[in-house]
Amino acid sequence: MRIIIFGAPGAGKGTQAKILAEKYQIPHISTGDILREAIAEGTELGKKAADIVNRGELVPDDIMGGIIKDVLKSDKCKNGFILDGFPRTIAQADLLCSIFEELNLNDVVLIKLTVKDEVVIERLTSRRTCSNCGTIVNLLNLEDKNKCPNCGAVGTLMQRKDDNKDVIKNRLNIYRESTSPVFEFLRDKLKIVSIDGSKSVEEVTADILNFLE
Ligand code: AMP
Repeated sequence: MRIIIFGAPGAGKGTQAKILAEKYQIPHISTGDILREAIAEGTELGKKAADIVNRGELVPDDIMGGIIKDVLKSDKCKNGFILDGFPRTIAQADLLCSIFEELNLNDVVLIKLTVKDEVVIERLTSRRTCSNCGTIVNLLNLEDKNKCPNCGAVGTLMQRKDDNKDVIKNRLNIYRESTSPVFEFLRDKLKIVSIDGSKSVEEVTADILNFLE
């Protein structure tokens, strides 16, 4: 299975990608996670990306293109992948198509999750990630807001630096201007579906599986 999960910040890409990666036993390639890891480790990439990511802007296409080329051509992706957070510009989409062509991949599916801005803002300001097990949660759904509902760790629910209101608005503007047109660009190049991402996690997963299977 080769999947691109596409949509605005907060549409649920990461949550659904994790579920699908587990179900189909394929790697979840999140460019945001790759950048956050590099930032945490203080690598060259991390140093270049830190300020850009924290402002909610886009890391330059040449840097992102290099990362994605290496990952998609690596052994780990040879039996499939789920791509989350890439492509975010037409240039990235164009590069991606040429990689697919080079690797002879003609079964790639793009799933777009749609959500309204108000839902995004509400979701992202209350989003936390468990630093122990990586589970993404919404604080509004938790009884004990200090405990990870998945692994039970206490005090490990962390907020991303770019999940504050001003940066979220910036990310949404950038999505509208630079990323949203990618959908049209890829429409006749890949198998594409648009799914309502404002439903519950379980309902969205069911809609995706319904389409895939
Ligand atoms: P995400 O985890 O997908 O929300 O990504 C977090 C941040 O990483 C974004 O706001 C960008 O700053 C950066 N980023 C992730 N993927 C890309 C990409 N494909 N192109 C440029 N910047 C990216």
